[in-house]
Amino acid sequence: MTSYTTPLRDLLFVYSELLNPAVIQALPGYEEVTPELVESILAEAGKFCEEQLFPLNRSGDEEGCRFEQGRVFTPEGFKAAYAAFTEAGWTTLQGHPEYGGQGLPKYINIMLEEIISSANFSFGLYPGLTGGACSAINGYASEELKRRFLPKMVAGEWSGAMCLTEPQCGTDLGLLRTKAEPQQDGSYLLSGSKMFITAGEHDLTENIIHLVLARTPGAPKGIKGISLFLVPKISVRDDGKLAAPNGVSCGSIEQKMGIHASSTCVINFDAAQGYLLGELNQGMEAMFVMMNNERLAVGIQGLGIGEVAYQSAVAYARERLQGRSLSGTKHPDKPADPILVHPDVRRMLLTMRAYGEGNRALVGWVARELDRSLRHPDPRSRRDAADCVALMTPIVKAFITDCGFELANLGMQVFGGHGYIRENGMEQYVRDARIAQIYEGTNGIQALDLIGRKLPVHTGRYLRHFFHPVKAYLEEKENDAGLLVFVLPLAKAFGRLQQATAWLAQKGMENPEEMGAAATEYLRLFALVALGYLWLRMADLGIRNQDGDEAVFYRAKVDTARFYFERILPQTGALFASIMSGSSTMMQFNDEAF
Ligand SMILES: Cc1cc2nc3c(=O)[nH]c(=O)nc-3n(C[C@H](O)[C@H](O)[C@H](O)COP(=O)(O)OP(=O)(O)OC[C@H]3O[C@@H](n4cnc5c(N)ncnc54)[C@H](O)[C@@H]3O)c2cc1C
Repeated sequence: MTSYTTPLRDLLFVYSELLNPAVIQALPGYEEVTPELVESILAEAGKFCEEQLFPLNRSGDEEGCRFEQGRVFTPEGFKAAYAAFTEAGWTTLQGHPEYGGQGLPKYINIMLEEIISSANFSFGLYPGLTGGACSAINGYASEELKRRFLPKMVAGEWSGAMCLTEPQCGTDLGLLRTKAEPQQDGSYLLSGSKMFITAGEHDLTENIIHLVLARTPGAPKGIKGISLFLVPKISVRDDGKLAAPNGVSCGSIEQKMGIHASSTCVINFDAAQGYLLGELNQGMEAMFVMMNNERLAVGIQGLGIGEVAYQSAVAYARERLQGRSLSGTKHPDKPADPILVHPDVRRMLLTMRAYGEGNRALVGWVARELDRSLRHPDPRSRRDAADCVALMTPIVKAFITDCGFELANLGMQVFGGHGYIRENGMEQYVRDARIAQIYEGTNGIQALDLIGRKLPVHTGRYLRHFFHPVKAYLEEKENDAGLLVFVLPLAKAFGRLQQATAWLAQKGMENPEEMGAAATEYLRLFALVALGYLWLRMADLGIRNQDGDEAVFYRAKVDTARFYFERILPQTGALFASIMSGSSTMMQFNDEAF
């Protein structure tokens, strides 16, 4: 009952029309990355995901992963699909050419991640974490370690896992206890237990490379005493060949609400040999390379799941016959009209579409800046782009995963009771989408990151990379009569964001709890304004292309923009009021009364 076709047209609209593709093509090494090449890669990727991954989504959910005597078995079909995935070279897209990668822009890989997340969320977590681990190894490992580990990881023959969480430490990593004892040969022996480790153990690859946070003897307490280590499940000789097992074992896997086909493991380290990445006690800095990668990837998971929920809901709304249109029967030949005629169903579908396409534009913008931050020849431009990515990462992670869940939920609502029934596939999306709001730093923590770290840094330097383009674009379009219905409400919402930002900067200095109390609403206000800015740009493009061959596509852009501005952007008023009410109602509430 669920259905999915790669939204190729919209992915390319964002890549080639909304964001100037010449910006990426001008980066050193990307001269050959023409829009035609991007289109052909995405078309192939889409075909693969639709044909090989999507059919395994529901069976993978039903069967789940199996734990037997320390080994984890993925559901039927996953091993073959993973083999086909690596065989086709999909793990190599963004990898460094020195280690066997194709060295393509991150943006292309990000579009692939969206497609995979729509087709099979759980499957995507296996190669997804490997990409993040490669980035951290690339940034912080010695040349020797890179040569030993990266080629197999880039090829997908070995996978990666991220080992932070322990029973007593989730958000507060300063509490972690895993120990790393230095050895004569410069390596370390790690002992301790990690939990909730995604893809910590499975049967898809012959080796798993764990990136583990641990403490060395005498390290400072808290977050300042944490180091990052590379710990292979099976030891690897200098020549890259596998040696003996390395004191890494899986204690159990979790029974979860969703993503059943993704293994979530307790991983025990028993004097396992590991190698330091980066400097001693600077583990968080190195881990943040992987975590920032993963935070964007998790936002993209929300985007992917929202898309498949939307497509499935539209298909259902066209077929399901219930009631008659309020403005008179539309299909007299049928016993009832399709539910697509009902305003409330259209409200749900357009809400899904407006968030989904807006979020795709937001992800595209950040993806392009990510590539600029890594490749631009001018250091100042690289820094500016990196500022923009740093500012927007918590927004992509939190807002888009909130949307992923909201959209999956709306999709289920469009299906009515049939959405609640397992065999129809919609309830899986609701269950799968939910985790993305929690892992990789809860969405509450993302909001604190935005407000507490990203806003004040360098006296608001990051913020300028959002405020300036929005202000400039509003000024450029303020006399454009055709766009006035978009420009005026965006200017109002932007004003609210500016005012709330100034208020919080002042209040936060006096009392940090004001920031904490406002953080979640502030992040949403920010995100809605960001989407408003992008929808204004998309409406502009839509209006200018109304008469061509693709009039239906462009008109839909303008109409969806209107829906966004009339029905969604006004939420900024309520969020603003809520932020400005301050923290007292929450913080003065009597603890005993809870
Ligand atoms: C399916 C799954 C897969 C996972 N995969 C991985 C993985 O691969 N690797 C890994 O290391 N971990 C993984 N995790 C762990 C995940 O990242 C943590 O669960 C998450 O970061 C939250 O930590 P916690 O569960 O301990 O919650 P807690 O930290 O106990 O938080 C509980 C609540 O308190 C709030 N809170 C906590 N501290 C603060 C604060 N300072 N200010 C405001 N609010 C606060 C949180 O937002 C949350 O709402 C996974 C978890 C799950 C369920």
